Amino acid sequence: MDVVDSSSWRALVHFVDEWREISNLTLDHLEPWQIVFYTLSVVFFIQWARKIAKYEENLSLMWLLNDILIYLPGMQKKIEGFKEASRKEIEEKLLRFDRKKEFYRFLPDRGLTTEEIVGEAAEYKIMGDALFSRGLLSGASLSDNDENYQRMAQKIFDMYNSVNAIYPDVFPGCRKMEAEVIRMLAQLYHGGPKSCGSITISGTESILLACIAYRNRAFKLGLRKPEIVIAKNAHIGFAKAAKLLDIRVVRVPLSKNFEVNVSAMKRAISRETCMLVASMPSYVYGTMDNIDKISQLGIRYGVPVHVDACLGGFLMPFMEHCDFPVSEFDFRLSGVTSISVDLDKYAYCPTGSSAILYRDEEFFHFQCFTEPRWAGGVYVSPTLSGNRPGSMIALTWATLLFNGRLGYVEKTHRIIDAARLLREKIQDQIDDIEILGEPALSIITFTSRNLKIPIHIIGDEMNELGWNLCFVQNPLALRVCIGLKYACEEVLEEFVEDLKKCCEKVLNNTDLVYPAKTLAVYGISSSIEDFGISEEMPDILLTSLYATPVHPQRSTRTLSIEGRKMSLSQHIGFPSLLGRDAVQKLGPSPKE
Ligand SMILES: *Cc1c(COP(=O)(O)O)cnc(C)c1O
Repeated sequence: MDVVDSSSWRALVHFVDEWREISNLTLDHLEPWQIVFYTLSVVFFIQWARKIAKYEENLSLMWLLNDILIYLPGMQKKIEGFKEASRKEIEEKLLRFDRKKEFYRFLPDRGLTTEEIVGEAAEYKIMGDALFSRGLLSGASLSDNDENYQRMAQKIFDMYNSVNAIYPDVFPGCRKMEAEVIRMLAQLYHGGPKSCGSITISGTESILLACIAYRNRAFKLGLRKPEIVIAKNAHIGFAKAAKLLDIRVVRVPLSKNFEVNVSAMKRAISRETCMLVASMPSYVYGTMDNIDKISQLGIRYGVPVHVDACLGGFLMPFMEHCDFPVSEFDFRLSGVTSISVDLDKYAYCPTGSSAILYRDEEFFHFQCFTEPRWAGGVYVSPTLSGNRPGSMIALTWATLLFNGRLGYVEKTHRIIDAARLLREKIQDQIDDIEILGEPALSIITFTSRNLKIPIHIIGDEMNELGWNLCFVQNPLALRVCIGLKYACEEVLEEFVEDLKKCCEKVLNNTDLVYPAKTLAVYGISSSIEDFGISEEMPDILLTSLYATPVHPQRSTRTLSIEGRKMSLSQHIGFPSLLGRDAVQKLGPSPKE
């Protein structure tokens, strides 16, 4: 043993000595200042590169190559062509259910009669209904269709639609409602007497407000460049908030279960960290982060922890009452400092209702904008808007009271039962489909195990059958979010049958070559072909969102008295783009 040890030791010494000599010879011609200068330069360069890599998530060789390719001669023209093709594809998608394709382009000279307006609004409304007749499993609508509830909501809206929540003394009832809603929510999440918060109009606003609060707190504590630490499964609202607030995002990788990798999160915490985020559950994968451990990290490093319970916030508190155990996620964990919850999701309030809650007023005050010296008076604004619609607050209040604790327990039971059933059915009946992670609540994201079954093509096939699903990229997958209306066995049975059929159909179509549809577009139920111009997609999409195209065949501008430029010609190929059911529902076209 000794002999081996000493000989290997000697070899090492020899090696070091040799290396030293070679280095001395190579650097011989350099002056000492040069050596110091070069060394420092290399160190600073490495530090700089590491920093860039930490914050620039899109930095990869592929992207760099892409950027270079774009500047090759002839590429620009080609890209323009791709852009036009993609724009056309999206526009066609958005307009495919519009039979008339006429648009109001001018304010009508005379106001229309109420009957006309209501009639037209009804016509606009059914466009999408016809398209996705089988079910909106994307979670695009989670509303409660209970007639009794709808009638009540109607009355509440009539009473409160001109109430403005920014005037608490003019509309004291509305102030009382908001205060009560916040109190009820704080109690639901086991907040103490100092818990507080506000009602907002969307999850994104709630998230943004939390980021504002923690950024302002960080500034107060003397941090110069606050960072938020979020996982790659976090909702996009955090990235939006960070961009708006000019704070840095440190993105933590996921574990193989699509949950945050807690040890990576620990490593990501720095002196500048102002907020940690846990998703309960994650919007895209429906998986739950380990909030217990994240809360402990928060306590250990003195960093506030925000729980994004936008989706699960009205399922989890009721699950234990129907024998679906969930881990504690709220203010019972002492590291958790704020919770965002969307009330227009599983609290079944009308769209445009969310809330942000804090453990302590200290955090809440950092969220609010105040100006004691404005000419208009001492100004205090807790949320982003100035004037705030009282109708939304009243409807939220009424919806919570309408359901009550037991109502939510019963509805939660139905949702979670259905989600588990669907998961089992998919796992048991379709071998080629794989569910991502461990979805615990109402979201199930699945992909294909079989290379011969491109999952987005399955999505298109399901669309064709009248199902509306979410398309996910990275990894390519489809996402289902179960709402009350579809939380029943027959619907899910039908869904799984169709999914099975689609898989078989695609598998049997061996001679068909499918386009590489790999770009998912949020909010649009399909994906589009990736020509390598995904950077351009946002611009294309923005143009399409506000498109009111003029039909090329109608060059003569006939301005009707109602302010609508008529374009009577039927869209070519329209019925083939629609599902069969949809065409029947829409009835004969006006030409016929
Ligand atoms: C819905 C949701 C949000 C908020 O999204 P909005 O588009 O603002 O409604 C945030 N996080 C999660 C997990 C969500 O499900």
